[in-house]
Order: sequence, then structure tokens, then C-alpha cells
Amino acid sequence: MEILHTAAALQAYTKTCHRNGRRIGLVPTMGALHEGHLQLVRAAAQACEAVIVSIFVNPTQFNNAEDFRLYPRLPDADAALLEPAGCTVLFLPSVEEMYPQPTVLLFDFGPLAQVMEGAHRPGHFNGVGIVVSKLFHMSQPHQAYFGQKDWQQVAIVRQLIADLSFDVELISFPTVREPDGLAMSSRNRRLPAEARVVAPRLYAALQLAAAQVQASSSPAAVRQVAVDYLQAEPAFALEYFEVADAHTLQPLAEWQPGRPVVLCLAAHLSGVRLIDNVVVEC
Ligand code: AMP
Repeated sequence: MEILHTAAALQAYTKTCHRNGRRIGLVPTMGALHEGHLQLVRAAAQACEAVIVSIFVNPTQFNNAEDFRLYPRLPDADAALLEPAGCTVLFLPSVEEMYPQPTVLLFDFGPLAQVMEGAHRPGHFNGVGIVVSKLFHMSQPHQAYFGQKDWQQVAIVRQLIADLSFDVELISFPTVREPDGLAMSSRNRRLPAEARVVAPRLYAALQLAAAQVQASSSPAAVRQVAVDYLQAEPAFALEYFEVADAHTLQPLAEWQPGRPVVLCLAAHLSGVRLIDNVVVEC
């Protein structure tokens, strides 16, 4: 596995791959890797001869300076995990390398970005759009791998690929969870022990709500069940819980028969912001 730090080196690598007919899979990450990331890397290695994993804590997608500062950074441990998973190039750029000048371009993803993460983290999806576009240009991947843990991000990237005619296939994989149900996340490392004990209740709330989708009279009633359950644990500060159309991401006022529903939440626990979701086929 090679470790590359510059866009020029990455572009030289991707040109060689294209010349030699090697398929390229790209896995964009922010590092502090766990099994959720590694399943994407392994899947990319199954399908592609060249697997580029980027690790870049992207400042433009953070709307909270403290969250950016405290985001776990473990490049050496990450590199040790990546080679056995099938990564051929680890791209580890600096902020200056990715942003030699401040970007002025603004993405507007329309209704997809006006809800949930987009509504609660102003500018977040603009930053995602910029960094993913840059990584697509530098890596020229045949396939790009993303996790459904960030359900809304997958929808945004799908829109980005379609609107900008990127010649890349988007592949997404389900959320990998700890044995107690907590969605794996780099931010889980920041949870103090007592918070880690209650953290699985986020997924329990989603499961509780998911079990009510078929039986419940309205999306609002399902939402209330989950909100009540989470508010019974004072350690959580719930930011949002949405019952939405799984494709348009718009909140549902009533059930739409035959259309999958996504339940999404964001909550703060001991100063750590966690998100999770489940999809219910109707
Ligand atoms: P991140 O490093 O958090 O930006 O995540 C990099 C990629 O890994 C994104 O596409 C995430 O959706 C995906 N990912 C993160 N956590 C998980 C998980 N627990 N299960 C599946 N995919 C994940």
C-alpha cells in the first residue's frame, strides 16, 4: 500500500491505473477507522484492482469548530488497518493540499439538503459536495463506496453524480453496528464510559419506532413514541427525529403506501453528536 499526500501524486496514480485498464474504487473517509469503513474497503477490493481510501477531516463540512478540533485523528492506526483490507493507496492530504485557496463555489442540493443534517448543520452538504467532487476529480474512480449510516449523504452524492455527470457508480452498504446495536462511528471514541452504556438506546428508539410504522395511524404518532423513549433518558439531548420518505427525505405527514420510510435521528450525548437511521420497507 502506498501513502500519498498530494493531489499530483494521486492523479499520477489514477492516470496509470486508467492506462493499464485497472478499475478504481474510491472510499472517502475522515479516518479513525472502524468496521463500518473496512467493509467498504473490502467490498471495493473485491470489485476493483485499485482501491483508494482517502482520510481527510474536511473543514468545510464542519459547522462547529470544536467538533472539527476534537474529531479523532489516528493516521498510523488507520494505515495499519487498511493494507490487510485491500487498500492499494491511502490518500492523506493536508488541508492546504485540498484547499490551496478558499473555495467560493456553493452547492445547493435543493429539498434534499433542506431537512435533517442539512437543516441542522448549515453548510454541511456544501462542504460534502465540494470535497467529494474534488476527490472524484483526483481519483477518477469507476466506483465510489459510501455507508448508509449517512443516509442523507448517500442521497446528496447520488444527486451530485447525476447533476455533474460524474462517470462513477455509487455503491452503498448498510450500517455496521456494535453487538449492542450502537452504530459504529469515529465519534463513539469520544463517549465517556457512562455515556457509552446508554448510547445503544438511540438504535433501540429507532427499532421501537420502526416496529410501529405498519401498525401506527400516523408518522407523527411513530415519531412521538421514539421521542418519548429518548426523553426518558436525561443524558440525551435530541436534535431531531424525523419520519421521512426514504428517497425524497421529506418528512411524512401521512403514510405513502408502497414507499419505503426512513427514520433518522441526531442526538447529543456527553457533548458528542451522534446520528443513526433505519429504513422500513412499507
Ligand atoms: P466518515 O469517516 O464518518 O466520514 O465515514 C466514511 C464513510 O464510511 C461514509 O460513507 C460513512 O457513511 C461510512 N460509515 C461510517 N460509519 C459507518 C457504519 N457504522 N456503517 C457503515 N458505513 C459507515
